[in-house]
Amino acid sequence: MKTTPLGARWLGSPNFTAGRDGHRMDVQPAWVVLHTMVGTVESANARFQQPGQQASATYGVGLDGRIVQWVSEDDAPWANGNTGTGGVGDNLDSIAIEHEDGGDFNGPRTPELYAASAALVRDICQRYGIPIDRQHVIGHRECTGNAPTACPDSLDMDRIVRVAVTGAPEGDDMDPTLAAKLDEMLNVLGSGGDNREPNPWIVATLNAILAGVQSVSGIKSELDAIKAEIEAGGSVDAASILARIEKALQTA
Ligand SMILES: [Zn+2]
Repeated sequence: MKTTPLGARWLGSPNFTAGRDGHRMDVQPAWVVLHTMVGTVESANARFQQPGQQASATYGVGLDGRIVQWVSEDDAPWANGNTGTGGVGDNLDSIAIEHEDGGDFNGPRTPELYAASAALVRDICQRYGIPIDRQHVIGHRECTGNAPTACPDSLDMDRIVRVAVTGAPEGDDMDPTLAAKLDEMLNVLGSGGDNREPNPWIVATLNAILAGVQSVSGIKSELDAIKAEIEAGGSVDAASILARIEKALQTA
């Protein structure tokens, strides 16, 4: 049974395609597909235990941050409604993550849910070499070859990807205006919206900038210290300033 090292509780389900019909998550194309439960972990589990429902997901994330698992990563979940169609997010090439919403699928989710989901997405993508971006971490509604759906509704997928990229806990370090602007750029460039072609290089660069922004507070305090030394009449040369900034960047 292939599972995450993050401590998912195994629930199991009879609904899956064994061995992914020969498809592999470490071979592209591969996706992580995000869903919302329109209910609780318990109600989703009740559904996924019934063979007649022909429905499952690989993982479920609770509003309290717990992670459960219904299907081995080596098998294909019946989550996206498109097994074997060859579409975007085909079940055979996807790990599906359900998210608890207590039935309020357009309401707010908890920080605990976002943190756990981002950690899970990061772990999956790193183990299979899947790029952590919005081309590869997609919503059910962005899959093709299935019936139209709004799932995962108001679940903030950009937030999950943003945190998954950095691997760092969400803090108040990032200026909210900057974060919103970067999100907007990622949306436009990442989705190919605004009549532009998706540009993986730009998306990767923006993700790197986002990761860097997380470490800004550590660098800022080092710069404040250098400034204070200079103002106090100390002799601080350019080379040592650069070395100290470099060190702050590495330890951030
Ligand atoms: Zn869904």
